[in-house]
Amino acid sequence: MRPIQMVDTKSQYLHIKEEVDKAIHEVLDTAAYINGKPVQDFTAALSAYLGVKHTIPCANGTDALQIAMMALNLQPGDEVITPSFTYIATTEVVALLRLTPVFVEVDPQTFCIDPVSVRKAITPKTKAIVPVHLYGHAAPMEEILAIAKEHNLYVIEDNAQAIGCDYTFTDGTKKKTGTMGTIGATSFYPSKNLGAFGDGGALFTNDDNLAHQMKMIANHGQQKRYYHEVVGCNSRLDSIQAAVLHIKLKKLDEYNAARAAVAAFYNKAFAGNAKIVTPYVANYSAHVYHQYTLQLRGVDRDALVSYLAEHKIPSMIYYPVPGHKQDMFASFGLSKTNMPVTDSLTDAVISLPIHTEMDEEQLSYISTHVLQFINQ
Ligand SMILES: *Cc1c(COP(=O)(O)O)cnc(C)c1O
Repeated sequence: MRPIQMVDTKSQYLHIKEEVDKAIHEVLDTAAYINGKPVQDFTAALSAYLGVKHTIPCANGTDALQIAMMALNLQPGDEVITPSFTYIATTEVVALLRLTPVFVEVDPQTFCIDPVSVRKAITPKTKAIVPVHLYGHAAPMEEILAIAKEHNLYVIEDNAQAIGCDYTFTDGTKKKTGTMGTIGATSFYPSKNLGAFGDGGALFTNDDNLAHQMKMIANHGQQKRYYHEVVGCNSRLDSIQAAVLHIKLKKLDEYNAARAAVAAFYNKAFAGNAKIVTPYVANYSAHVYHQYTLQLRGVDRDALVSYLAEHKIPSMIYYPVPGHKQDMFASFGLSKTNMPVTDSLTDAVISLPIHTEMDEEQLSYISTHVLQFINQ
């Protein structure tokens, strides 16, 4: 059996090696490392794929979130509502910009932001909501957009884990995650569903003005070289990464289908086990399975992780500490925050290996060992 990895970017590369190597060498030949034609070609292709008017490339997903908040001109003290159960990047940039993170609960089935909890958290200082399409499942955007409209709030979608995921509105309209809010942000970190061979990120919007603003902010606040209109930063996607991403974008649906096949295998293997809750898929969302995350019931998780590791099966806890309990946010005085859903998920989740290169032998080995431990 091939060794099992959480992600296997090397094997994925080998399938497209010829095409990728050629594209990289073309960039080397033109020497347009920054802002070359591959960047324009890739962002145009990504806009077409997502059905969004503007795609603004940047250096990584964290920068994308930061640039989004800068472009919306949020001011120190403004409150930004985000789930506590997410990767730190989402909430870190809020604090970095001296905005106030307001943590809310997630739905215990979808792991995504809970609209009821959002409503309760709104104050006169609230300016934005940041739903995260966690693990590859869409947040309940129709409700979030309705709340935002009612209270005149911006919506920044953190789409780092769900690129390619379809959302279906009650009237049957379908949209891609990352294109429904005021701004969408994504990451091309190598392990993401659309991953580069290094760092990368992008912003999405249908608003011409915001697109212009975000492009300027990512480029030192300038439109015309050396004339700096606003305070910005330096955040670029380089040509080599864009060339690689353009090739992988053509395969994104295939890659996401391969992930879904892995999830289907696990779901079948774990079906009916009282100690395992398999991932739920809401009727409004597809699922692109950035992670395959189980909830354990009455299982010693640490012991399971060790047992799997002994059998050379990696597993991960995404995420062991929720935002409201991170030391970095101590100054916000959140120690008394009561988040029963988030806290219980934090203790119950475990993510199993999922990527585009897994075979049945590996999947059966993994699921057999999980069940062996759980049913002992
Ligand atoms: C990966 C990720 C980010 C940050 O992306 P980077 O490219 O690593 O900066 C932000 N939010 C979520 C939910 C992520 O998974």
